[in-house]
Amino acid sequence: MVVISTEPDRFQKLEALSTMATDDVLGRPDPVSQFRRDLRPASDGRTYRDPYSRPEKNPMPGIYKASIPGGGTIPLMRTMFTDFCMMDCHFCPNSHWVPRRRFAYKVDELAKTFAEMAERQMVNGLFLSSGIMGSGASRTTQKMVETVEAIRKRHKFTGYIHLKVMPGTSQDIVEAAHRLGTRLSVNIETPTDPGLQQLSPMKDLKRGILDQMSWIDRMAKAKTGETVGQATQMIVGAAEESDADILGRITQLYGDWRLKRVYYVPFRPVRYTPMEEHTPTPSEREYRLYQMDWLKRVYRFENSEIGLAFDSRGLLDLDQDPKTVIALENPEMFPVDINSADLPTLLRTPGIGPISADRIMRQRRRFTISSWQDLKTMGVVPKKARGFVVMPGHRPEPARQLRLELLGHTEPRSSVDLVDVKREATKSSGVSSAPKPTGAHGDCAGRDSCAGCPMFGSPGHPGGSPLSVGSPTVREKVLA
Ligand code: SF4
Repeated sequence: MVVISTEPDRFQKLEALSTMATDDVLGRPDPVSQFRRDLRPASDGRTYRDPYSRPEKNPMPGIYKASIPGGGTIPLMRTMFTDFCMMDCHFCPNSHWVPRRRFAYKVDELAKTFAEMAERQMVNGLFLSSGIMGSGASRTTQKMVETVEAIRKRHKFTGYIHLKVMPGTSQDIVEAAHRLGTRLSVNIETPTDPGLQQLSPMKDLKRGILDQMSWIDRMAKAKTGETVGQATQMIVGAAEESDADILGRITQLYGDWRLKRVYYVPFRPVRYTPMEEHTPTPSEREYRLYQMDWLKRVYRFENSEIGLAFDSRGLLDLDQDPKTVIALENPEMFPVDINSADLPTLLRTPGIGPISADRIMRQRRRFTISSWQDLKTMGVVPKKARGFVVMPGHRPEPARQLRLELLGHTEPRSSVDLVDVKREATKSSGVSSAPKPTGAHGDCAGRDSCAGCPMFGSPGHPGGSPLSVGSPTVREKVLA
């Protein structure tokens, strides 16, 4: 039985409600070190990250140290307005399936708590999420907007506020949220409509999520409020989605509605929910998706290049960095002359990122780069780049040899294990290994764009994934 309690004091509520807010706040500028810190080895040898508890990032209840673009962190108050939810999402610890005590703030109570913490300089911003109260999505979002309004107007706070918009919120309330929140987000949860039906039967992808996203984008373009960007979140591995489906959807979202970020949360089974027996998603899959997201968003890889990173089932290789997989699929592009290659070529070279590429471009005007030590001081990762660059005194092995050597050096498991990893990844994501059907989809007739189409990614949809599902991975070819 679910019990909502408003009796505890506001600090008890803060403690309870802050742990239930997920972590899609601000940026994650250094995903590699971030993930290394967060990963926890489990008894099955895999690594998992608990998306609902990150003690090392929570010095005290309600305070979350969020990474900011360009480095550093800022303390945010991260909380839910209520952890009661009338919805039936099969993966969620706040859904009505889970019998536990629930809490809810009152508007003034939360505004005052935040203002006091901000005054004491304990926090510099707010991340406010919520479950959907019995009165509905619009009413819940309205309560959150009233809280933010009190914080902005009564307590004169002008800093960062990330406000979740509940799926299904009406346009006038979204407009009110847009006037006050620095960042808004509507959780899409999964890339396809069939997937959402499976995970959250009470949600409507088109009318409850995509419409709200398009309104936010329109308002942000018109600059009628505070909002400077929107974000969304996907639960990975819970529905019938492949990595290609996810990347297909986010390509569309980044392109059409200029989303700032997509956050990937690996599925974890929650007791009492219909998915409590479902296989958890390994954190490696989440990590690979963040890497792929960076290739798309920061490195500006073309979709045709990104498609090379997927295997025939549309899955990323869990054992290999996708940038390296793509490079190995393009042997004619390498080795790259570090002293003459253009910027896009440098960015496509494993071990070289945007900052190190920029440093290489500037430094080689002054001198000829000829040592790994020089490259290392510019931020290059020699271990990754060694097989792909040429400079005075260094020439890598021929490409085919290089492929085999790289695979041989980095092979952590036997070929049998590898097949098991792939099979389990497929099982956990529910992806069928059968080829996807193609052909025209009736609902698409006359559409200019896939933006806003709830059928995007569903079987038979010609825009099922703008990313071509790539050829088998290099590793699979070699093993074959
Ligand atoms: S609407 Fe949100 S909080 Fe409610 S059950 Fe679904 S995912 Fe959980």
